[in-house]
Amino acid sequence: MIDGKVMVTGGAGYIGSHAVLALLDAGYEVVVIDNLVTGFSWAIDRRAAFVEMAVEDVNLRNVMAEHRVRAVMHFAGSVVVPESVADPLKYYRNNTAATRSLIESAVAAGVPHFIFSSTAATYGTPERVPVAESDPTRPINPYGMSKLMTEAMLRDVAAAHPINYACLRYFNVAGADPQGRSGQSTVGATHLIKIAVEAATGKRDSVAVFGTDFPTRDGTGVRDYIHVTDLAEAHVAALKLLVERPDESHILNAGYGRGFSVLEVLDAVDRVTNMTIRRKLEGRRAGDPAELVADNGAILKTLDWAPQRDDLEGIVRDALAWERTLAERGR
Ligand code: UDP
Repeated sequence: MIDGKVMVTGGAGYIGSHAVLALLDAGYEVVVIDNLVTGFSWAIDRRAAFVEMAVEDVNLRNVMAEHRVRAVMHFAGSVVVPESVADPLKYYRNNTAATRSLIESAVAAGVPHFIFSSTAATYGTPERVPVAESDPTRPINPYGMSKLMTEAMLRDVAAAHPINYACLRYFNVAGADPQGRSGQSTVGATHLIKIAVEAATGKRDSVAVFGTDFPTRDGTGVRDYIHVTDLAEAHVAALKLLVERPDESHILNAGYGRGFSVLEVLDAVDRVTNMTIRRKLEGRRAGDPAELVADNGAILKTLDWAPQRDDLEGIVRDALAWERTLAERGR
């Protein structure tokens, strides 16, 4: 345990709110920073302190001092690949430039540990699948590049200042808290499992399948879907490691090491709901690689963590339960 709080930026958002739950459940004290542009204050567990502020605000270093922050988990940012292609400067502002300010605040406040939400999009089109951390990083969209630039800043800052870091390169995050306390609530979401459960609850009448001519087993894109609660717990394990070994920093893939195609995901949703979602076969989406699957050997070896929820139907069930909660609340 640490003597002070963990600052969670983006704690009112999807993955951040689950990290807040995992930290609180493990006994950590938490302060959430969120500007509520895409997040929701009701998504923040009441056990956490909350400061409504942008991560690039220079006053953040005072908040860090007041709350005796010993570690930052940084989730705030923009996450939609096609949007990053259309509006790259938004991504370099919200992801790269904002994070530069946040790291500066952390260094000024003497925060010793930093955990960053990175992405498999840093690899671009991988040379081989599963892809490992040491493989080339050549992003094919501004989203991936905005995150890779942040990884580079952290590497340089950790060499110059007393701070260590972990970058978790997320594969496709899905599902919701199994206890029903949080879930993916983003309005106008674009991620496949969220879209599919919206269709299953009547919010949409069909799901578009983007690309049927990829060199994959059924022609549709293959991704490594990881349950958001497993991912949140990996952050807690990463924090423990950074505290135990202050001289080390780590870049780790966060995935299960197996992939499902778009059609396989939709079939799983059909099985869970006992319905048949309408598929609309469409062309490829800008910036999409054919297949992204994690080599997760490093995270399994490095962290005191193992997947507990590696089950596509279970992920879909949790996502669906949350979608029904949102529908009941009229959201
Ligand atoms: N996808 C799809 N229809 C959708 C949303 C996504 O066919 O409505 C596909 C997408 O092309 C990719 C996979 O599902 O092959 C996962 O996409 P998502 O947007 O969920 O995550 P990404 O891999 O882009 O981060």
